[in-house]
Amino acid sequence: MLMDTPANERAAILARIAAAAQAAGRVADDVTLVAVSKLQPDDRVDAMLAAGQRVFGENRVQEAQVRWRQRRITGLELRLIGPLQSNKAADAVALFDAVDTLDRPKLAAALADEIQKQGRSPQILVQVNTGEEPQKAGVIPAEADAFIRAARTEYGLPVVGLMCIPPADEEPAMHFALLAKIARRNGLTHLSMGMSEDFETAIRFGATQVRIGSALFGARA
Ligand SMILES: *Cc1c(COP(=O)(O)O)cnc(C)c1O
Repeated sequence: MLMDTPANERAAILARIAAAAQAAGRVADDVTLVAVSKLQPDDRVDAMLAAGQRVFGENRVQEAQVRWRQRRITGLELRLIGPLQSNKAADAVALFDAVDTLDRPKLAAALADEIQKQGRSPQILVQVNTGEEPQKAGVIPAEADAFIRAARTEYGLPVVGLMCIPPADEEPAMHFALLAKIARRNGLTHLSMGMSEDFETAIRFGATQVRIGSALFGARA
């Protein structure tokens, strides 16, 4: 039996991603593993880097700054997958290669401003609140098209895709299908959807990025 080393855990997840992609008539390379390192101890993150993982997702700007300041190795790609306050836009633009959670005009304005000032432009995904949950971030589906258009044209942001977190107590498939449909009609090619419990379903519905934390690193602190 293989030991539960981070390298083995990563290989096992990559194999499941490849199998799910193949079953959906897609190729494994179309799906990127985003390793969600929020609240994970540094030794696990270092082991994942040593295993060759280069794309990481973080929820909080400040936690990410502390962790990644010393770990800026070649090829590293940092994605912000948690909600962003407008007053942290400067820090986010300085640190992240992608912001996956754009969901309101005020934040669009703040990001556009910082991109201009810093001459550095993270990739942008719009978060859609597919389940219309009041406690959850994201634009509601009915407002998604107009918001995506405004983010691109009024604010000039490089929006390339969409992200969602389905309600915990619902079948995720319909939420993934809805996100894919909104992306298609807006000409967006990146779909960040699927987590530890449902990434294979997300791949079936077109995910190009799966955000996996606990299944990869083990339980969070
Ligand atoms: C924490 C988190 C994940 C990872 O969740 P797991 O269930 O541990 O895979 C993915 N996406 C977002 C937005 C998260 O906050």
